[in-house]
Amino acid sequence: MNLLLLEQNDIVEPADGDVPGRAIIRGRRLKHVQDVHKAAVGDTLRMGVLEGEMGTATIIRLEADVLELEYTLGIQPPEPLNITVLLAMPRPKMLKRTFQTLAAMGVKRIVLMNTYRVEKSYWQTPWLKPEAIREQLILGLEQARDTVMPEVILEKRFKPFVEDRLPAMSEGMRKLVAHPITDIECPRQVAEPVVLAIGPEGGFIPYEVERLVEYGFECVHLGQRILRVETAVPVLLSRLGC
Ligand code: SAH
Repeated sequence: MNLLLLEQNDIVEPADGDVPGRAIIRGRRLKHVQDVHKAAVGDTLRMGVLEGEMGTATIIRLEADVLELEYTLGIQPPEPLNITVLLAMPRPKMLKRTFQTLAAMGVKRIVLMNTYRVEKSYWQTPWLKPEAIREQLILGLEQARDTVMPEVILEKRFKPFVEDRLPAMSEGMRKLVAHPITDIECPRQVAEPVVLAIGPEGGFIPYEVERLVEYGFECVHLGQRILRVETAVPVLLSRLGC
């Protein structure tokens, strides 16, 4: 946790210009401040308000079950990564980590989509509940020092998604599908907005690649090594992003 992220219900008095705000924290974040930061009254912490600015908090009270802070804002969160990620629904363990990675790397729109080689049971995982998704995304934001929550869209049917919603979502964007079977290398540092499709563990089937290509996607590879999805995601994002 490199950023203490405050939610509206933590805030007792909002900061107003030069007048500091006040907040009270309990639970996981309190425990982290106690056990990892080993902080004491008077110490300062980097903080941010969810969907708002970032700044500095000073600890004014620290007890076993309560942390009270005074904070000032004024720092903007980092620029988002202009990449929309279309990710074939991964297995639950990988899903959790991937949410954190996507949020930490600055992706602001994540589409989890079904593909032929996604196991049906993956869609039943409790990690897809809105609170569970939110929790993982917050961990990613805290890690990276960002305050802006990514949007997550679930698309449980490939064909209607690609045909009906993807064209509008990807309009004017560079459309790429990470696919090992192509001669085209993945481009680097693409300045324009990108929509990037990443397949499941078993890869996309030819039909899916054909549909994506029909809707303007280019297949790109990362070299001959086949990477796990959780590795391919940060490799692709850092290669494309700028
Ligand atoms: N056996 C599958 C590999 C799937 S790896 C196949 O041959 O397609 C899971 C996903 O990670 C892939 O669908 C792709 O989107 C991405 N990926 C992994 N390694 C890659 C590479 N070397 N080039 C491009 N994409 C890759």
